[in-house]
Amino acid sequence: MENKRFIYADNSATTRVSDEVLEAMLPYLRENYGNPSSIYKLGRDAQRDVENAREKVARALGADPNEIYFTSCGSESDNWAIKGTAERLAKKGKKHIITSVFEHHAILHTTEYLKRQGFEVTYIPVSEKGLIDPEDVKNAIRDDTAIVSIMYANNEIGTIQPIDEIAKICNEKGVIFHTDAVQAVGHVEIDVHKQGIDMLSLSGHKIHAQKGVGALYVRKGIALPNFIHGGAQERNKRAGTENVPAIVGLGVAIESAVKNIAEKNAIITPRRNRLIDGILKLPYTRLNGDREKRLAGNVNISIEGIEGESLLLMLDMYGICASSGSACTSGSLDPSHVLLSIGLKHEVAHGSLRLSIDETVTDEDVDYILEVIPKVVERLRSMSPVWEKMMKGESYE
Ligand SMILES: *Cc1c(COP(=O)(O)O)cnc(C)c1O
Repeated sequence: MENKRFIYADNSATTRVSDEVLEAMLPYLRENYGNPSSIYKLGRDAQRDVENAREKVARALGADPNEIYFTSCGSESDNWAIKGTAERLAKKGKKHIITSVFEHHAILHTTEYLKRQGFEVTYIPVSEKGLIDPEDVKNAIRDDTAIVSIMYANNEIGTIQPIDEIAKICNEKGVIFHTDAVQAVGHVEIDVHKQGIDMLSLSGHKIHAQKGVGALYVRKGIALPNFIHGGAQERNKRAGTENVPAIVGLGVAIESAVKNIAEKNAIITPRRNRLIDGILKLPYTRLNGDREKRLAGNVNISIEGIEGESLLLMLDMYGICASSGSACTSGSLDPSHVLLSIGLKHEVAHGSLRLSIDETVTDEDVDYILEVIPKVVERLRSMSPVWEKMMKGESYE
């Protein structure tokens, strides 16, 4: 392919481990291999460095270090928060859970599981802009509600939810409020104490740490039951020898992620806007998710008359890594539940493109993407029977 570049525009799927994170981790994979539970210096040093990382995570969130638990990923944090709270409060007769229709599967499949265990689940709808109305949460809360879990920012359409208002409502009603903030950390300012957030999940690999490490913040006073039973790690709350290199890396990554959020967003937002405006120049396209209340680096556009998967494969040939709203790769032909939740028709949802850029995607990269996409879309549409029917004004559903 002529003038081939490599542009990584899929930071919502995962991020590259940064050089500083890798540098910080390496000693723990080589000489500092002690078990934090061991009594000798090699172990004590590892213990100390895990605690340093905990302080960094706490500081980044406005929490106390003893409110932070390291986990193996964002999914584990979500599972622990929801299942743990459900288990604890079911004993007090609270068997109702509130979440939203467009959560990550780490939440939705957990609540589906709990439903099969006899819990009742209310799914709050989202507006066509991809936003939750706090009033809907308020109206859904009952005397037997155990937990409300609403994501901070959506992983597909990037919309940022009114977390302060939702937390306030939950605090007033005395209901535990959890938020999956995997996509928000490092992109929006978070202060869990000020905001009244009771529990928060985050993941390392979305903020330039490695895959397979995460954290759960649990406000002091909430007695979350153990999820992984075994040794006394994590103050007896989460067994398993600590993943010291990954935890140290997470500490460095989050410290860096929450630094200069406004400055980073000021660089990314105009590039993101140029991508949105450029792609929307194509006929039969629409932006998914609110234009203002969205993550600085998120672009999600439906392009009618094409298949998302084909678009991704073509973009890949041009060296562009992106993502789509259809899940064909995972063996299912169902379009994304997120895109359906904002009212898209199946065939429109299938032709969706998500770009998630960070500050390393330059203005020249944006130019290149905007040069490639119309070419690729035109080619795909010219081969599409759906597009042909659309152009003739025939029904194609
Ligand atoms: C990526 C992601 C998760 C899962 O995190 P893992 O560390 O990959 O398990 C959960 N929620 C959201 C919103 C995500 O984007």
